[in-house]
Amino acid sequence: MAEKRDYYEVLGVEKTANAEEIKKAYRKKAIQYHPDKNPGDKEAEEKFKEAAEAYEVLSDPQKRQRYDQFGMAGMSGMGGFSGGGMSMEDIFTHFGDIFQGAGFDIGDIGEMFMGGGRSRGPRVRRGSDMRVKVHLTLEEIAKGCEKKIKVRKLVTCKDCNGSGSKDGSTETCPTCKGSGRVVRQQRGIFGMMQVQTECDTCGGEGRIIKNKCPKCNGEGVVRDEEIITITIPAGVMGGMQLTVPGKGNAAPRGGVNGDLLVLIEEEEHKDFIRQDSDLVYNLLLDMPTAVLGGHVQIPTLTGDVKITITPGTQPGKTLRMRGKGLPRIDQYGRSYGVGDLLINVGVYIPEHLNSDERKLIEQLQDSKNIAPGSAEKKNFFRNLFGI
Ligand SMILES: [Zn+2]
Ligand SMILES: [Zn+2]
Repeated sequence: MAEKRDYYEVLGVEKTANAEEIKKAYRKKAIQYHPDKNPGDKEAEEKFKEAAEAYEVLSDPQKRQRYDQFGMAGMSGMGGFSGGGMSMEDIFTHFGDIFQGAGFDIGDIGEMFMGGGRSRGPRVRRGSDMRVKVHLTLEEIAKGCEKKIKVRKLVTCKDCNGSGSKDGSTETCPTCKGSGRVVRQQRGIFGMMQVQTECDTCGGEGRIIKNKCPKCNGEGVVRDEEIITITIPAGVMGGMQLTVPGKGNAAPRGGVNGDLLVLIEEEEHKDFIRQDSDLVYNLLLDMPTAVLGGHVQIPTLTGDVKITITPGTQPGKTLRMRGKGLPRIDQYGRSYGVGDLLINVGVYIPEHLNSDERKLIEQLQDSKNIAPGSAEKKNFFRNLFGI
């Protein structure tokens, strides 16, 4: 798959654009690349889908915030966004209202478009998506892990194998004769026109059940618990959403299962603060170690390590241990390298001294190398504050 373009760039809007501007920009693109205007043009179709994906994200305040913060990597491209697999029908179902006032009748657009060679049989139902949260420690995120979670959801009824019928038999719907659609007259911009809609009698399925399964009352699904194993790739981040296809609610009467959407939540770690794929550890040295140098023990996600403190280490220094951070992943969940462990060094100046300690420090006070000169002063503040 080609590298994805920035969503703002796709719609041609500023990062500061408001909801109305984003909607307007999307509508413009959608009409420009509309398949009916560009029959058989693959590139236009791709552009049409690309714009729909950008709009799906930027029109949703939560998704937009996550995108602004993490870019594509925050977009659960690891399956969360249906973008690539989003069919044209999906786009019209989701964003149909965008075409209002664009010189098209909304119903017509779906009709005109979907009429384009796609067969339209009875409706296949889809189970709804389910959303769960998983809490992960940084250790789990570092290596990736498997999580087993118990979810209560709609599953296929075993008594009727999901058919909803007690004896397995169904009848063709008398209203729509099995097509799932009925034709009615509607006033549109070009006068009266025929519009197809879903059949009310069978809910668009084309078949009806006379003898309903008593366990599921003809629905073909019942509520039950299921243990689902979720594979979490290494390097995920709080706020990301993974998709486990087909593990959401089962659909009534043999339709397609919904998806399980897994929202990642990150637990706070006692030692580390996460900054993207880097980890930060705050190290506060005692005064003698900072002055004399020495060895100190530092925790990492893979166990403690000893590091060397050089004599004369100043507070405000940051040490970097390469590759001791978290795996980096792109929006498709592929890893590319590992972050670093950053060690912020501070030096603790004691606040309470006993008389012996006080005497020792007093002896040092007028000693030759204790007071900083102008060069030391300059270096110190440059390192600490960058000025
Ligand atoms: Zn049943
Ligand atoms: Zn019907």
